[in-house]
Amino acid sequence: MKLIYTNENRIMVLNVKNVLMSHGIDVRLNNEFASSASGGLAPFDTWPEVWLLNKGDFDKAKQIIDSISHESNLESWQCNNCKEENDQSFDFCWSCHAENT
Ligand SMILES: [Zn+2]
Repeated sequence: MKLIYTNENRIMVLNVKNVLMSHGIDVRLNNEFASSASGGLAPFDTWPEVWLLNKGDFDKAKQIIDSISHESNLESWQCNNCKEENDQSFDFCWSCHAENT
């Protein structure tokens, strides 16, 4: 068993688990319900964890997780005028200066 992912956000952890399983990787969830029964433990100790059953899946799993977090960090919009991809923080297209509508 090898720890592949942990996050304080249980939704993210469940998402990672589901995506890995959909790629045929055997995983196990630890601490899934720890937050409701944590008592005096430090918060970090109770983060839900995704564990690989097969250490050999590590590289593949890591790549998949990287691509998930990449996607969720990059919420972009596409310009209606020139079809360029723009960062979420831009109100105007960086390329043609059309407004994000
Ligand atoms: Zn544009």
